[in-house]
Amino acid sequence: MKNTGADKMDKDRVADILIEIGQYLDLKGESPFKVRAYENGARIVLSLEEDLETLVSEKRLGTIKGIGQALEQKITELVTTGRLQYYEDLKAEFPPTLFDLFRIPGLGSKKIRVLYDTLDITTIGELEYAINENRLVDLPGFGKKTQENIKKGIAQVRTTAGQYLLHEAGSMAYDVLLGLKECSSIQSLSIAGSLRRSKEIIKDIDVLASSEDAEKVMDHFSTLPTVVDVTGKGHTKTSVRLKGGIAVDLRVVSPEQYPYALHHFTGSKEHNTKMRHIAKSMGLKMNEYGLFSDEGNENIPCSSEEDLFKALGMTYIPPELREDMGEIEAALENKLPKLVESKDMLGIFHFHSHYSDGSNSIAELAEEVKRQGYRYMGIADHSRSAYYARGLKEEDILRQIEEIDELNSKYKDFHIFKGIESDILTDGSLDYSNDFLKNLDFVIASVHSQFRMDKESMTKRISTAMDNPHTTMLGHITGRLLLSRDGYEVDLDKILGKAAQKGTVLEINANPHRLDLDWLWVKKAKEMGIRIMINPDAHSLSEIAYTSFGIAMARKGWCEKKDVLNCLDIDAIKKFLHN
Ligand SMILES: [Zn+2]
Ligand SMILES: [Zn+2]
Repeated sequence: MKNTGADKMDKDRVADILIEIGQYLDLKGESPFKVRAYENGARIVLSLEEDLETLVSEKRLGTIKGIGQALEQKITELVTTGRLQYYEDLKAEFPPTLFDLFRIPGLGSKKIRVLYDTLDITTIGELEYAINENRLVDLPGFGKKTQENIKKGIAQVRTTAGQYLLHEAGSMAYDVLLGLKECSSIQSLSIAGSLRRSKEIIKDIDVLASSEDAEKVMDHFSTLPTVVDVTGKGHTKTSVRLKGGIAVDLRVVSPEQYPYALHHFTGSKEHNTKMRHIAKSMGLKMNEYGLFSDEGNENIPCSSEEDLFKALGMTYIPPELREDMGEIEAALENKLPKLVESKDMLGIFHFHSHYSDGSNSIAELAEEVKRQGYRYMGIADHSRSAYYARGLKEEDILRQIEEIDELNSKYKDFHIFKGIESDILTDGSLDYSNDFLKNLDFVIASVHSQFRMDKESMTKRISTAMDNPHTTMLGHITGRLLLSRDGYEVDLDKILGKAAQKGTVLEINANPHRLDLDWLWVKKAKEMGIRIMINPDAHSLSEIAYTSFGIAMARKGWCEKKDVLNCLDIDAIKKFLHN
């Protein structure tokens, strides 16, 4: 839950509060119609392209479809005063901890209300206790199976507590860096730890600074507006908690120690252990303070991390690779890959337009993609089985093709490829006939339903889709949603083997909730010569930025420019797609 004090109300905050209001009303047993109005309101606010404050100040909120008078008043109060009395009153009717129960998968307002009314349960701990006592089994609407599911849900909440997705941790860290940059006593500054290595899930943020005045830097840090709590303070290290909940450790070292400390605090632990081992074999001792010769305890001077690797006979290892996955051995033999970079990316695929569940027209998407410097893009709306996402019927696709042809005829140095994100049906077939799919430049085949198949059936299902000559690539291959849903059961060894044999492209879905294919498998795919495509799976203009997380995963998977299809120029990609 986000802090809802008197801070500036952006769309995310307003939407969160509307969702909460819906949940409180549901808890109170109000009509589902009323509850849904708030849920819809939240969705509408999130999808607004215009600035919320502008809409409020120009009194134009009410003209938006789905925002009635009641919602308009509440949003206006929130945006203009930073709070909402109606929401505060609702909140006061329930114990604050009761709301934690909403985090448990499978537990909605109705069940929470029953738990509260009959067993007086107000915390996750109390609920857990009640389950251990087997008390849920006889409650109305519960039962043995439900009790078991809730127990699993609690376990899931516990294991994901205190973990953050890469983009969440990244944006919180960005605020900290911005604040620290204003401190004149800092000479060098960097993110370290798992965030610098671009891990897909982050537990805490490590920041490293160099300065001659550690005390001053730490004082500045402790008083940043984003810091809510100082949890520890020593001579060179301060620990805090940010508004967003995440813990941050700031370490301040001398400018001479900085390169060694940066390497040390970037990790990973496994990488560092092996590095120390290599140093030892050379008669050196390595730690966060320096690189010392064993006899004289003399520091080998390094002015950068590059120097440090060089002193150990290695080429520079980019942070993303420091996972002890063979990078040290490769660096010793000067065999590290030259990792793909964002400047290598010439085009991006997998866009949803307002034909299905995206919020922009194809022209709007294309303009923005072009503005960001890309040379081509691929539209891939949902297919007809995905009715919940307004999947496209054949006639819609034909209409879309016409529209894209029209746009393409106007572009000189930009091209829109015509595609579809086709559901893989349970028998492995795609959502349209092969004859119809001929109309398209590419097909992304994805599983969007029936996740609960056994491993063998799911593998067969996806494998059958790969046999279709129109399948260009597989979308979000395991279906995982980081920190909320495990991927479905699928034999990835088999899928990769088949992709290598058939030439199927594998997507790195760059949505930070997915980052699917996992980078560990990306590395295997690369070794097998499988082509990778980095796709934002964007449903709006702002989601084009997801691409950078996909690039980070490709880098963690050792991908070079030649492994990534997005790096082909227009002619080469056209040729590739038409083969
Ligand atoms: Zn999808
Ligand atoms: Zn998609």
